[in-house]
Amino acid sequence: MGRSAFPVVFDGHNDVLLRLGGPDGGGPSAFFERSDKGHLDLPRAREGGFGGGFFAVWIPAPKEQTPEPAPGRTPKALPPAIDAAYALRQSMAATAMLFRIEDRSNGELRIVRTAAELRRCLDEEIMPAVLHMEGADAVDTDLDALHVLYRAGLRSLGLVWGRPNAFAEGVAVHFRRSPDTGPGLTEAGRELVRACNNLRIMIDVSHLNERGFWDVAALTDAPLVASHSNAYALCASTRNLTDPQLDAIAVSDGMIGLNFAVNFLREDAARDASTPLGVMVRQIDYLVERVGIDRVGFGSDFDGVLISREIGDVSGLPRLMSALRDRGYDDRALRKLAHENWVRVLRKTWGE
Ligand SMILES: [Zn+2]
Repeated sequence: MGRSAFPVVFDGHNDVLLRLGGPDGGGPSAFFERSDKGHLDLPRAREGGFGGGFFAVWIPAPKEQTPEPAPGRTPKALPPAIDAAYALRQSMAATAMLFRIEDRSNGELRIVRTAAELRRCLDEEIMPAVLHMEGADAVDTDLDALHVLYRAGLRSLGLVWGRPNAFAEGVAVHFRRSPDTGPGLTEAGRELVRACNNLRIMIDVSHLNERGFWDVAALTDAPLVASHSNAYALCASTRNLTDPQLDAIAVSDGMIGLNFAVNFLREDAARDASTPLGVMVRQIDYLVERVGIDRVGFGSDFDGVLISREIGDVSGLPRLMSALRDRGYDDRALRKLAHENWVRVLRKTWGE
């Protein structure tokens, strides 16, 4: 198995499509070349034992959108909703990027649509990629785009990113404030949850505000999943989950993927790359204690956030695994954290 001495990692969130699509990103072919830019490419993934994960389609704010806060709102207020046609165009570009990567990969990367495919790819050292949309901004309220995207391979959907849309409102990033920052799901948002349940698309609660979280929890018939968030008790960021939210995830037999962003890990939420690995281990300890060893995994946010220099990029994953082993996680526990929990939750959500 692989080059790493540790179990292969299946990861809950990366933004490599965003990086490759950016002005200096290099496009799909750059995924196959070892780079020192960003966090993730195929050579570094192989080196670090990163076996696959969720690949996020994220929509940048339109260039003409003014960053000026509205009168009476704090500068950290949510950015405005974005136009659905613009969002759809941007989503097509990022989704096509993932298809092009798959096409050029000589079978080394495969977009997976079933749990059996996911398991088989991990066993055969083919990189499974789950097509994930970070925010349903591109989806119309008739849900036509949802059905088309599902047929194209969409298997995971965050209702929101950090902005409002027709379905819900994302949480504004604040420190030492409650994640209860705005309204819950709209009626269209409730319809979207039901449609995702029917299609068996995983619903990701990361980025939802607290009311939105509880609305999803009350409605969904699938396990609750936060793909890239941490424990609020250890880092009081609105992007993290309070103890009652973690308890609801445990009761639903869902899971949480550890976000590697130092400002969502640290007690002081500082954007400090010299953050030691111990801070990540402490979050894992807390999450495992709270929701159980079967319900915690990784959701690195590679290529989307500032991470600890001790990991550096995806090739540094073995250092995190090693720190967890030193902390007392045995081989069985490490397998669960590395990929088995994700496989289990996706099997429950997608069906066999
Ligand atoms: Zn995110």
